[in-house]
Amino acid sequence: MTEEKKYKLLHDRPTCIGCAACPAVAPDFWEMTEDGLKSDIKGGKNLDNEWQELEIEEKDVEVNKEAAECCPVDCIHIEDKEGKRII
Ligand code: SF4
Repeated sequence: MTEEKKYKLLHDRPTCIGCAACPAVAPDFWEMTEDGLKSDIKGGKNLDNEWQELEIEEKDVEVNKEAAECCPVDCIHIEDKEGKRII
């Protein structure tokens, strides 16, 4: 049985300036830290390079793409099922 491939939501967290746009656009996926200095992907995995990632369904790509388009420092990315960046 082959596992169904998913899209990947990526957060270049070191670059985030904590503007709070992403949780406003996509509150199911993004939240601000308590000190308000950065955002986090809800349920995201912390990577060694301080980025975060979360596998998402195709239906959740659009709202996260909107969040990425609102990000002033372009630190939100999405990879398609083949691992190619779509934003
Ligand atoms: S929109 Fe970008 S800079 Fe603003 S909080 Fe979200 S990830 Fe950080």
